Parts: sequence; C-alpha cells; structure tokens
Amino acid sequence: MESLWNDAEASALSGDALKLRVHTSRLLGREPSLVLHGGGNTSVKSEVANLFGDREEILYIKGSGWDLATIEAAGFAPVKLDVLRRMAELPSLDDTAMVRAQRAAMTDPGAPTPSVEAILHAIIPFPFVDHTHADAVVAVTNTDAGEDRIREIYGDRLLVIPYVMPGFVLARTVYQRTRDLDWSRFEGMVLLHHGIFSWGDDARTSYERMIELVTTAENYLKAKGAWAEPPGPDTGPLASGDLGKLARLRREASLARGRPLVTRLDGSPAARGFASRPDVGVIATRGPLTPDHVIRTKPVPAILAEEPGAAVAAYAQGYREYFSRHQRGQTRLDPAPRWVLWPGRGSVALGVTAKDAAIVTDIARHTMRAIGWAEALGGWRALPEKDLFDVEYWELEQAKLKGGGTPPTLQGKVALVTGAASGIGRAAAEALMAQGAALMALDINPEVDKLFSGAGATGLICDVTDAQALRYALESTIVRFGGLDIVVSNAGLFTPTRRLEEMTEDLWRKSLDINLTSHQVLFKHAIPYLRLGFDPTIIIVASKNVPAPGPGAAAYSVAKAGLTQLARVAALELAADGIRVNVIHPHAVFDTAAWTSDVLEARAKAYGMTVDQYRRNNLLGVEVRTKDVAALICAMAGPAFAKTTGAQVPIDGGSERVV
Ligand code: ZN
Repeated sequence: MESLWNDAEASALSGDALKLRVHTSRLLGREPSLVLHGGGNTSVKSEVANLFGDREEILYIKGSGWDLATIEAAGFAPVKLDVLRRMAELPSLDDTAMVRAQRAAMTDPGAPTPSVEAILHAIIPFPFVDHTHADAVVAVTNTDAGEDRIREIYGDRLLVIPYVMPGFVLARTVYQRTRDLDWSRFEGMVLLHHGIFSWGDDARTSYERMIELVTTAENYLKAKGAWAEPPGPDTGPLASGDLGKLARLRREASLARGRPLVTRLDGSPAARGFASRPDVGVIATRGPLTPDHVIRTKPVPAILAEEPGAAVAAYAQGYREYFSRHQRGQTRLDPAPRWVLWPGRGSVALGVTAKDAAIVTDIARHTMRAIGWAEALGGWRALPEKDLFDVEYWELEQAKLKGGGTPPTLQGKVALVTGAASGIGRAAAEALMAQGAALMALDINPEVDKLFSGAGATGLICDVTDAQALRYALESTIVRFGGLDIVVSNAGLFTPTRRLEEMTEDLWRKSLDINLTSHQVLFKHAIPYLRLGFDPTIIIVASKNVPAPGPGAAAYSVAKAGLTQLARVAALELAADGIRVNVIHPHAVFDTAAWTSDVLEARAKAYGMTVDQYRRNNLLGVEVRTKDVAALICAMAGPAFAKTTGAQVPIDGGSERVV
C-alpha cells in the first residue's frame, strides 16, 4: 500500500490542524482496502478559544453519516475533550445517555452526531488518531491464531485489544487496560476482529503509520503465500436459464424483504473463483470481515446451490433461528439475504437501490478476498454470532441505515425505456429515475450511453428494429439489475406527410417496422421477465392520431393504430399474470426533436395561426410538454394505476375530435 501524502498538497494546509485532518482522512477514504462506505473514523485534538476567549481542548471527531472519502470540515463534530475523557471513567453508560451527553458537550449544536468511537479517540493521548478496518490486518486477526500472528508481525509496537462491542464498552476496555501504560511506546493499536488504530503528533505521521502498518500485514500475507486470489473458471456470459434464475432470485429475495430490490452481479474472475470453491458453503458462512459490515450485509450471505426459492427460504429460516437464539425483546429485521454466492457465476448483491447494491458488492468483494487469505493461513474464524447479533441489532448501528422520509414511489423497480435519448422517452426515463426506479435506457442514438450512466442507470445503443439487439438489451437489463417491472415502449418515428398516392413502399415499411413491429418484438422478449416483476406494467406511447387521424399521416397513424390494437390484445393476454398494459395518446408535444422551429412555424402558418396559438390549439388552451407526458407515464407505472389495464389515456389538452 502506497502513501498518498504529497508535500505540495499538504503545504497549502499547514498550520490548520482541522484542514490537515480533513486532508488525510480523505487520503484514507480513497483506499477501499482500508475503509469502505462510511467505515472507519478519524479525529484531531485542538485548543480553541471559545466565545469568552477561554481556551478549550476540543476533539474534532468524524460525524456519524459522513464518509472518509468525501468528508469536509463540517463533517467533524467538535466535542469538549474533558467531558469525553471523564465519560471513559464511568463504570457503565447506555447508548442513549452516551449520545445525549456527547451532543450536549459539542461546541456547535448544528454539527453531526459524533462517531460512536469518540470516547476512545479522546483517551488516546495524541493529537491525530486514525482508525480503519484494513482488510489485511482484520483478515489476519480473523484466523485461529490471530492474536499470535499480530504479535509476530508487529512485536510490541502495537497495543492488542481483544474483541469487545464498539462504542462505550470498547472505550472503557481500552481505558482500563492502558491506565498505567506509557502510550509513547506504541504507534497504534489492533482491535482483534475489528480494525486498527494509528496515531501521531501530526497528520502525516498518523496517516503514514497507518499505511506502513497495513503494508506490513500485507507483506506478511505475501510471505505466507496467502496473497493470491485464484480466479474462477471462465463460464462465459449468462445463458437464458441463468437469466431466469437471476430474475427468480431477485423475486424471492424481494418477497422476503417485503419490497422490490435491485441486484448487482459481480462476475469478476475473483468473485467466480470464490463462489466456485467446493468449500464455499462452509467458509463463506462463518461471518463478516468486520462487524461494522453486518448492517449492510447481515452476518452471512446465502448460497445459490439450488433453486432460488429454496435457497432464499433456507436462508430466511436460518436467519429467523439466529434471531431467536439471541434476541432480547428486539423486533426482528427482515430475513432476506443481502448478498448471494452463485457457484460458477460469482456473487449477487441485493439492494433497495442500485447504489445500495453497489455498496454491498464492494463489501462482498473485500470480504471474499479476506476470507481467501485467512483460509490460506489456516482458516477463517469470524466472531461468534452472538457478537455479530449485538452489532446488527445495536440501536446506534440501525440509526445509520435510517434515511429521512418516505422512499420514492418506484424505489427498487427496474424500468426499461425505448427511444430514451430525446423527447418523451428521455423525459420519461429521467422522471422514472427521479421516482427511484433503476433504468435501462435504449436508443439508436450513440449518445444514449453518455446520457444515462452510473449506479442506477445504463444507456444502451439499440436499434429496436433489430430483433437480436432488442433481445440482447432485455438480457442486459436482467444482468444489470436482476429483473424488469416497467416497460415504456416509446421508440417511434414521425413520418413526413405523404398522401396515399404519393406513399413510398420504403416509408410505409419503415413506419410499420419502428412504430409497430419493434414493439411486438420487445413485448415478446420482455414478457417472461415481467412475469417475475413487481406490479409489472407496459406503457405504450401511441398517438392522438389513433382516435383522430389526419390526412397525409397514413403510415404513422396506421402503425400507431396497430400498436394500440396490439396493446389491447396484450392487456387481455397478460392480465392473468398481473401485467398491466396501458396506452397514452400524446398530441402536439412540441419540445421534441421532430418539432424544429422551422417545422413549427410552417405548420402554424398552414393553419393560419401564430406559433403560440398553434402550440395551445386544444380545448384547455395549454401547451403539452414532454415533462407532462413523463408525469403521466410515471403515474401509470405507480400505484395510482395499479387497478387499470387496457386503458387509453389522451394527453393533448383535450381535443373536440376525441371528446
Ligand atoms: Zn471500527
């Protein structure tokens, strides 16, 4: 592990302890082998003048909910050091009282709640203190002779503390063990089965000690021949049977969780290698890398050695038994797995959002690697499940997961939108994402993959008239998110005006291919996955031309009328599977690519209107915009339309020809 310290960067901050604290905290946060997603914490002690000019010793400690990788000065809670030190002398202290007393001792009531390790940081008599859950160090402690190995690696440079519950109990344990100790003899501290601390008089010393201590553990693993991570067999892309299995896994796990989930498949060689080990069922189910992970991953993953239904049921049963073995009146959390090992294929994370699933994937990746190392050292030995239970059901940990407010309506749903790079499709795609859906956005426009990227969205270039490409897009959706709940069948082509005697064969066929046949092919490939979806629905973007055609638009109107008839048949065929099929008929949505200002002016002129009159030429006299159409699509995808199928809803400001 390399130190990321850079004199030039740091010299701009010299003299400002908190700025340097922010800086090296971020350096730690940039290394996922040290801390992952909110793990670890750092602090600095500083003397500051208060309102009255009195000097006070303050501990700036990472606030709960902040991530080291992105922390700012505002992410550090300023707490009076003398109060924290006195708290360590108390024989006992419950969590609620601890949090209240710490908040009351803050010099800024608007700062975040201090990390649960604030008291521990306070009693370490060095200005800078860094704490991580370094993979290499924790992996070594998670072995049979873990403590002996740590002493073998570090001699007496480090304090070694046996596992106790984080928070007050840990601080109190360290306090009692170190009362008569000369701290200056030590460069840091290993918490068995949990993590490592380093400290120093300045930011650089504390940070670089951490890097050096962790590198020493990594070198030990290398010297013992434990470092390698054997890749799994190359099993190629998922076959259709595998895709069905993945979609069924998502369905079963979502049912156990009580809400739709998004999956993330890690099919990397390392994940495949781990999941394909003959002993995976034994070594993967002993416990997590560090107890901090249990709130994200539960104590152990599920193993997909059988049918998804049976695997999830067995996991849930095991979880309920674990809960009843250890509960002391708590309410049981849902029994659904957070990650699943799939022999031959890798690991599958499940989250309420794609981001959540990505976090679980990262933790799983580091856990698999650490288990591999520890196995090579003689065997992975995680904490007893009682200790894991205490952390999983610890109110201070559960508080970390609670976000404010109601989740967005479509959270956990997976949506596919065709023609997503512009106009109604793009507005619908963005609106579905804003409502919490994970999104697969298809378009023939090569920009689509730049428009939609990141954890919760994928843009895929796709010509919808190419059946193979559509099929690939559907399969990619399952690989990417594990299922499909919402299909917005929107891709279309507005054909130029041609009266019947001027119609070309090419124009006619092109319109039918895109505006009709491509939708039928999409349904064909989507239906098997929609059957496994949650409140599954197909929303078809047709046209006001269906109920109210115009002259010169035969190629367009006939295709859209056929599409509407296709939707009616689909509503009939799919109702028994609970799949809703509804149609919208937009009209005169001018903020789309088809309506350039030239076209708009020409058309307005043809009707003897100004452009503004032409835009609002409907009963309500309103302009219909893509975002209005997108809002209707979102409503149709959600609970408002849960009991509606086979409907055709105009969105045109009202037309006397339709009313
Ligand atoms: Zn920790």
